[in-house]
Amino acid sequence: MTRLREVEDDLRTSNRELLRKIEEIESLQEQLRQQAIRDPLTGLYNRRFLEETLGRELGQARRNNEPLSVVMIDIDRFKSVNDTYGHNVGDLFLIALGDMLEHKMREGDVACRYGGEEFIVVLPGASLEAAAVRTNELRLIFDVLKIDVAGQSISATFSAGVAGFPLHGTDEKTILAEADRALYAAKDAGRNRVIVASKESA
Ligand code: GH3
Ligand code: MG
Ligand code: MG
Repeated sequence: MTRLREVEDDLRTSNRELLRKIEEIESLQEQLRQQAIRDPLTGLYNRRFLEETLGRELGQARRNNEPLSVVMIDIDRFKSVNDTYGHNVGDLFLIALGDMLEHKMREGDVACRYGGEEFIVVLPGASLEAAAVRTNELRLIFDVLKIDVAGQSISATFSAGVAGFPLHGTDEKTILAEADRALYAAKDAGRNRVIVASKESA
């Protein structure tokens, strides 16, 4: 009887230990997953995650017969910010913009750092007009944001292009290309503005 109790106790201890190890492995797996889909500087999602998500969101938009907008944002003359004030100051603008995108977008919107100073926001359910209005609000906030460096107040601006499903295409590649085209139209038109891709370009 005593022997049986001992065996049962040992078993319970081993089970507890096993559960603890499983929890530890699950938590490490989640950390790895986050590292694989997050940009370390801004904490936003990365390009890999965007590519996974955009396809899935487009499928859902198609099935639900709902619009989906994609915004491509690029900081203006960012090279000159780096060249004038240093790379660390450039990084502060990236972090600030990342923070704005994270906190000022709606639940369900997906913001990611697509490349160096380029960001993409996917807005499921948002019309092109709604996406443009919201991006313009962000643009104005970013425009007045100041970063203090050695007693100097520095600001930056961004340009953005907006395209979406179904007007500009049904697959992610085409929609991203249209958003990119609109972004470059915004750069050409003088920067610090938001341009919606035209219907004709689709
Ligand atoms: P435009 O208005 O046409 O977009 O001009 P730009 O100077 O922003 O464009 P360009 O593509 O020539 O420069 C992008 C710069 O972004 C160059 C690169 O050094 C900088 N950059 C890319 N990644 C990072 C980063 O992680 N940190 C910092 N500080 N700079 C970065
Ligand atoms: Mg760029
Ligand atoms: Mg730029």
